[in-house]
Amino acid sequence: MKVPILDLCRMPDELTAELTRTFTSVLASGHFILGPEVSSFEAECASYLESSHTIAVSSGTDALLMALMALNISPGDEVICPTYTFFGTAGSIYRTGATPIFVDSLPCCYNLDPSAVAAAITSRTKAIMPVHLYGQAAEMNSIMGLANKHGLTVIEDAAQSLGARFGDRQTGTLGTIGCYSFYPTKNLGALGDAGLLTTNDPVLAEKLKTLRMHGSRVKYMHETVGGNFRIDALQAAFLRVKLPHLNQAHTNRARNATRYTENLLASGLAKFPVEGCLCGKSGSPLEAPLLLPYSCQPHHIYNQYVIRVTGEGKRDALREFLTGKGIGTEIYYPLPLHQQQCFASLASSTKSYPWAERFSRETLAIPIFPELRKEEIDYVSEQIAAFFRL
Ligand SMILES: *Cc1c(COP(=O)(O)O)cnc(C)c1O
Repeated sequence: MKVPILDLCRMPDELTAELTRTFTSVLASGHFILGPEVSSFEAECASYLESSHTIAVSSGTDALLMALMALNISPGDEVICPTYTFFGTAGSIYRTGATPIFVDSLPCCYNLDPSAVAAAITSRTKAIMPVHLYGQAAEMNSIMGLANKHGLTVIEDAAQSLGARFGDRQTGTLGTIGCYSFYPTKNLGALGDAGLLTTNDPVLAEKLKTLRMHGSRVKYMHETVGGNFRIDALQAAFLRVKLPHLNQAHTNRARNATRYTENLLASGLAKFPVEGCLCGKSGSPLEAPLLLPYSCQPHHIYNQYVIRVTGEGKRDALREFLTGKGIGTEIYYPLPLHQQQCFASLASSTKSYPWAERFSRETLAIPIFPELRKEEIDYVSEQIAAFFRL
């Protein structure tokens, strides 16, 4: 059996037909950048997110960069972010001339450790950039508490968590600005690159719209230096077709995750990585050959289902074994950001971040996309169990 990590072509025929009609209609409109499709998409996202302002842009990475620019983050400033995340999180900080200050993450939810954030705050700290990794919210109560106490802004990297909640609030709407990505592997994927920002601050919203157009509100008059951060009308139109199906996709992903977790626990090989959640410092880590994703938050949208395989070389051996059985996997992320060549000049590059370093050697993402079939989940689970019985 062949089970890809993600199959973007496996969508219902009606959806394919609707996307095709949408393409034809945008083509006929002759309006390809911003415009009515984009405004409607922004309004629909604001309603979905229960947030006041949304600005649709060219990518998730550009959303992060724009958020930092709007908050005047500049050389000499420090911004705290996890080292265990996608490169764009820290890359955007670095591009403003500010310094990314890395912190370690936790083995319960793979999200940044609030106590490490507290320890990293200095007089130069301007912002905290938590990431809601794999579709589960970081511990925002502690993070907002620290931000309020020290007068910091919070930029949420919600690239993987559009629709995931922290308590009853949407991730991305708790901090100062939230940033989302519509890269095709995200739960709401465009047919190309696109992103979104949200904020409840009308002044910041206006600033972000201006930054999107080279810092210009009145044509050819530039108040600040922005960039071309515009979204295509075509992508906005495609996303408008897909947004109404997003919650069903989350439900299917969570159903798939439950089936994996039940199968793998039943095999007797796997454990959860913690007893209790470590975000609130009340838990303790556990060890086993195979560790399963754990939910610190009741709501998890499973952008990825990431297991941990402990023991020297074991993760890579499992990956090779699964490849041989036709099963696609991915490693998020094989090198923590503090160890990246481009950040070698940062003071953080010589520090040690034990959990992040372990995750980069032990994590493996297995197929979780919404259209995955029961038989495929059972096959993947059986093959994982077979590897450990070898
Ligand atoms: C995908 C992603 C981004 C970047 O989004 P793009 O749309 O690909 O630019 C940033 N941060 C995280 C955590 C991501 O997963």
